[in-house]
Amino acid sequence: MARIIMHNPIAELDGDEMTRILWRKIKDTLLSPYIQLNTEYYDLGLSHRDETGDAVTTEAAEAILRLGVGVKCATITPNAQRVEEYGLKNMWASPNATLRALLDGTVFRAPIVARNIKPSVRTWKKPITIARHAYGDQYKAVELRAEGAGEAFLVFHRQDGSENRAPIHKFDGSGILQAMHNTDQSIDSFARSCMEYALSVGQDLWFAAKDTISKKYDHRFKDVFAELYEKEYRPRFESAGIEYYYMLIDDAVARVIRSEGGFIWACKNYDGDVMSDMVSAAFGSLAMMTSVLVSPRGCFEYEAAHGTVTRHYRRHLMGETTSTNPIATIFAWSGALRKRGELDGTNDLRAFADALDKACIDTIESGAMTRDLAALFDAAERPAALTTDEFLNAVSANMRMLGV
Ligand code: NAP
Ligand code: MG
Repeated sequence: MARIIMHNPIAELDGDEMTRILWRKIKDTLLSPYIQLNTEYYDLGLSHRDETGDAVTTEAAEAILRLGVGVKCATITPNAQRVEEYGLKNMWASPNATLRALLDGTVFRAPIVARNIKPSVRTWKKPITIARHAYGDQYKAVELRAEGAGEAFLVFHRQDGSENRAPIHKFDGSGILQAMHNTDQSIDSFARSCMEYALSVGQDLWFAAKDTISKKYDHRFKDVFAELYEKEYRPRFESAGIEYYYMLIDDAVARVIRSEGGFIWACKNYDGDVMSDMVSAAFGSLAMMTSVLVSPRGCFEYEAAHGTVTRHYRRHLMGETTSTNPIATIFAWSGALRKRGELDGTNDLRAFADALDKACIDTIESGAMTRDLAALFDAAERPAALTTDEFLNAVSANMRMLGV
């Protein structure tokens, strides 16, 4: 059978540990038999990031900007323990933080729903999509250890030579300091992409922050959303029959738990990081969450929301079989291929991506699944957990059944 041709390449960002193993298996069993893969390959595995002084991460971001579409494997964010484990020259920054800083934009994370996987929150009936602002805040913060007593100020030097200065704290003894920033432009594009996304899926948009405490920082986010909504989006939301709500973040958390789901929850960078893990875990498993970075510069980066699954990788290295769920990584590939197909007008590539998603869901709904999902069933009804390879083979068999 003729394989599907990709007219334009996508940027392929390889990663680390168990997800690097999944990456290769997914390409070999589910992609290469059907598609003549056309990718620009960037190895973001930790050793290669170290060898290149992390230049490869920046090159990969430039490739995503140039090609319009990227797909990324999970990567290790080095900490002190990893520096020792890999003998690193440097404690390199989080690749995702570097990519997000260069691409700007918003990360949309939506749970992948299968009929037989019931959310832990009984009231949830529809997916909850987290829209995470992907620029600034803690991820671009500058931090200082305040050594001994002293006084700290926040100072802004304007280009005209004048300055704004605010006292932070008079330290009697040592302490810690952090300064965060964001830009009106990035907040505006965050609000805009959330509103566009809400319209495109026909769901309400919630935005929550803590403007009562953060009277300048969080308040700015609240104002930008409100002004944009009133100026440009209210009529479109009204004719689409959807609504925009602002609320305090603690209020939002309580409401989300009592809701039925089926809305977009826009979060600042840190809130989105934390809440997306909670929402995906509550919908079933960390491995059932898709993630796409939508950049205002017109490009899209797809990835799994989970990490490199280190615990499974350690077992894999000891020669044990693993039961690691590849669904989110497969959906990262299908998302990127579908977007490539959309941008290039290649229907066979789009149809392939849809068929691949369907084969995954059909496999799970037929009762074939990895341990993370099997564990959600009561003991009496629990299906046997498949190994990683058995599960991939079951998806592959379903692909053939769909006549791909
Ligand atoms: P993790 O890799 O997401 O794994 C945490 C736990 O969640 C696993 O031990 C496993 O639980 C479960 N899990 C996650 N993905 C799974 C899958 N596909 N199938 C089955 N179970 C799955 O998070 P972590 O262990 O905290 O982090 C590991 C490394 O990933 C770190 O070096 C971190 O820097 C990196 N990380 C990268 C990204 C990214 O690139 N986007 C995101 C987060 C973390 P059980 O062990 O109980 O089975
Ligand atoms: Mg996280």
